[in-house]
Amino acid sequence: MKCIICHGEDIKVKEVKEDIQVGNDVVHVPIKTSVCMTCGERYYDRRTMQFLEDAEKRISKAEVKLKEVGRVLIYEETSHFA
Ligand SMILES: [Zn+2]
Repeated sequence: MKCIICHGEDIKVKEVKEDIQVGNDVVHVPIKTSVCMTCGERYYDRRTMQFLEDAEKRISKAEVKLKEVGRVLIYEETSHFA
């Protein structure tokens, strides 16, 4: 398998956290998936996609127990470069 972004061949299955946004909250969902070691691009198989879709549904219906691990804050200054 070759990375479609950088054409690198160093792709490994790794444990990563996928972020799912629910309203103003962010839920980290741990998954194992293929990750390009060169550019960081993640590749999901059908089962993983399905798992993430289910996770999103269950989170939005409050069917799962979530643990608070930190806060999400916003930096209020705006960049002056644009
Ligand atoms: Zn890559």
